[in-house]
Amino acid sequence: MPRPQRAAAAKARSKLIDFPESSEASSSDEAAKTKVVEHKSVEVRETITAKEKLNASATVTKVGKTVKTTVRLKPKAGVKRKAGEDNDNDSNGDNEGQKSTTQKKVRASTKKNPPTMIPAVARTVGIKMLVGAHNAITNCNNIGGNAFALFLKSQRKWASPDMKESDAVAFREACKESRFDPKRHILPHGSYLINLAQSDQEKAKQAYDCFIDDLKRCERLGIGLYNFHPGSTLGLPRSEALARIAAHLNRAHKETRFVKTVLENMAGQGNIIGANFEDLRDIIADVKDKDRVGVCLDTCHLFAAGHDIRTQASYDTVMANFDRIVGREYLVALHLNDSKAPLGSSRDLHQNIGVGFLGLEAFRVLMNDEKLEGLPMVLETPMKVESTWAEEIKLLESLVGTPGNDPNFLVKAAKLSAKGKEERKAAEAAEKKKAIKKAPKPRKKGGKKQSEESGEDGNTEDEAEHTCEH
Ligand SMILES: [Zn+2]
Ligand SMILES: [Zn+2]
Repeated sequence: MPRPQRAAAAKARSKLIDFPESSEASSSDEAAKTKVVEHKSVEVRETITAKEKLNASATVTKVGKTVKTTVRLKPKAGVKRKAGEDNDNDSNGDNEGQKSTTQKKVRASTKKNPPTMIPAVARTVGIKMLVGAHNAITNCNNIGGNAFALFLKSQRKWASPDMKESDAVAFREACKESRFDPKRHILPHGSYLINLAQSDQEKAKQAYDCFIDDLKRCERLGIGLYNFHPGSTLGLPRSEALARIAAHLNRAHKETRFVKTVLENMAGQGNIIGANFEDLRDIIADVKDKDRVGVCLDTCHLFAAGHDIRTQASYDTVMANFDRIVGREYLVALHLNDSKAPLGSSRDLHQNIGVGFLGLEAFRVLMNDEKLEGLPMVLETPMKVESTWAEEIKLLESLVGTPGNDPNFLVKAAKLSAKGKEERKAAEAAEKKKAIKKAPKPRKKGGKKQSEESGEDGNTEDEAEHTCEH
């Protein structure tokens, strides 16, 4: 892939400095003056450019009680430094071990909540496949992401404090500074509680209020895409449930200005809406403003719902089906996850890239689909160690332009596959056991009882295991 020269400038020179937890912390490092911004209702990253003569910028993230600060020192014009010299640690993380004389750590004032540190990794500037991770807890810049997801408020609570205007302004400025286009690169994930298919009036109002609040938050932040789970029929007629979703979308589009409501495909069958493309098609059909609706395809959900995307041929078939049934123009984002459960299991269990049943070849095929260029691709894989997402982003990017018979690729794919071998074996055995158990006693018709027992507004067992937040 072509890499513009500015990649070189973005690369290199990065330092990690932890600051004490405070609302107005100043560093003892004279090279950077920075402040920490408090964020309560929304995870927001702010980038502050220090005095120009210092030639530095700082990225500060505060989430809960954790403060992360990255200070990026830009190269001084005309000064060429050797690797490992002075403070020029390579920001791709390879030079993590190099000791810098000016690298300082300021410990948190309380040992109880030490700031988390991850190695900074440069973003691949100019790449057309925009991979990032879910959850802005990890600073997207630090992990080399070109897209990212976040929750706009607690995804498991109905009510959240209002967003401060100062936070919204800081977020919009940070996007500009970091060259993220919030209209295209950021894909917030809606609350898990929202079920727009809800028929109970009171519960439907609660769901809609939460939904519209999310959309309004998006617009205040300048975010153009909003991803959510279509919901559950709760055992009621499917066509009516889909119509209720579309009606809510039509109302929401009237009450907001530009944010696109993005339906996510789901893994579960039964009452869950969105495991098949027809559900998505039928919702979209009833949406009046077609520019305000889109689809996010989650690779784990696709596979669990029975769409095999493991080879070029099967991937092409699935995508051709999507194009025919839904329409490619509606595909606006992807969630990239391997699957811990076998094909058609209906189970929503995310696995790290290449380790699950999908395997690395599936992602090689996907990363070479030119039709996906420019779409935000968000990882929701389990974060085993702090560098997991940074490594997975680079792994996925490395697949662009790699042929399936590339020896290095084959070694990598085999290595990752071996890592998950035992887990896959156990999952296969569990599936077989489940199938035998299920066989004499077919699933009860409907499913209302199950949703009532869940205590929520219709989240079923399948939905409960959904792990988009990893
Ligand atoms: Zn999701
Ligand atoms: Zn997802």
